[in-house]
Amino acid sequence: MTQILTTRMEAHPSDSHTLGRYEDTGGYAVLRTALAGMQPDAIVAEVKASNLRGRGGANFPCGVKWGFLAPSRPRYLVINGDESEPGTFKDRQLLERDPHQLIEGIILSAYALGVHHAFIYIRGEYPRPARRVQRAVEEAYGAGYLGRDILGSGFDLEVTVHLGAGAYICGEETALLNSLEGRRGEPRIKPPFPAVEGLYAKPTIVNNVETISNIPWIVGNGGAAYDAIGPEGSRGTRMFSLSGHVNQPGNYEVVMGMTWRDFIYGYGGGIRHGNALKAWIPGGASAPWFVEEHLDTPLTIDDVAKNRSMLGSGAVVVMDETTCMVKAALRVVRFFAHESCGQCTPCREGATWLQQVLTRIEAGAGRDIDLDLLLDISDNISPGLAWPPAMTTICPLGPSAVSPITSIATYFKDEVAAHVHGGGCPLG
Ligand code: SF4
Repeated sequence: MTQILTTRMEAHPSDSHTLGRYEDTGGYAVLRTALAGMQPDAIVAEVKASNLRGRGGANFPCGVKWGFLAPSRPRYLVINGDESEPGTFKDRQLLERDPHQLIEGIILSAYALGVHHAFIYIRGEYPRPARRVQRAVEEAYGAGYLGRDILGSGFDLEVTVHLGAGAYICGEETALLNSLEGRRGEPRIKPPFPAVEGLYAKPTIVNNVETISNIPWIVGNGGAAYDAIGPEGSRGTRMFSLSGHVNQPGNYEVVMGMTWRDFIYGYGGGIRHGNALKAWIPGGASAPWFVEEHLDTPLTIDDVAKNRSMLGSGAVVVMDETTCMVKAALRVVRFFAHESCGQCTPCREGATWLQQVLTRIEAGAGRDIDLDLLLDISDNISPGLAWPPAMTTICPLGPSAVSPITSIATYFKDEVAAHVHGGGCPLG
């Protein structure tokens, strides 16, 4: 967020990832000023005042999270770049095209938190972004922004770039920490939370790439300036990955508060071929779906939550009238069944059973009781089918597999019944 954008993010110059371009456009100026004249607590205060909420999925306030960091040393900062939620590709663009913005954010955050070793964990399927980040880290070391006595301030920081091996579950912060330690990427039972006992059992803050990319702007302009952008509870700008059946898919950095209608039909250019909108996923594959009645709901974290869904990772997947909702649900459930780490029975078995029943319905061999069966299995994964979901599992992946089931049961019951009675998809 070196500048406020409300446009599709494709107009970056080809060298936007280089140190030279970043410095030419004001990069690292905030860091110089901060290290020369700001105490660490003053940076923490600005981040708290900004009301920046995390951009990785949980939308937890960044400054509040920082406040939980236990006092013991050493302590670590880990950047979560394991962007794997289907439909989400915003961090990829930040890593690939603006890595120095992230690095400046890391240095400012580490200085504020008293951290001397930070890690950037990047999804295994992102080799190009990882190469760009690694090169940018090397450039930053060469220019004196990383290493010992940064810019003569006496502050030291090492940064390690780590490439994951391609497991979605490693985007869950404790699984990520296990993976970083060389263990199986399985979520840990919480508490203890990472801020108390994280990487190598030391206090650790895990923040998303986009979250930390906001820090230079916040420190440079002040938390109050950031807090003045956008509606209450959804301050600042936010990147959305828009995909599916829209005319203009892409990453958009927007000020929240517009309606979904404005976002899909304005920024997204409407539905392809002039088709009718059928549904959309408002915040990544884990989120319950929205339909036409939600078009005039404001695009904010809290308004989406009031409507029993979430902005999550900022992935908006649009489906038009030609989409088979059973097949769409099956695709999402199959993903979660595949990515379950297997520790919890409701997730490991339940997601697989959901996949099997949906496969049967989609193939035209469904039974009248199958929708109730899907809901019964879902109720065992996430008791009460409430929103936000009740948790009987170690992490939210299990309940995520339930979202497409409750979505088709709420909005597309007739289409499921048509599959059962017509021997397959009525759309052909
Ligand atoms: Fe693993 Fe699923 Fe349990 Fe999460 S909910 S810890 S992915 S089995």
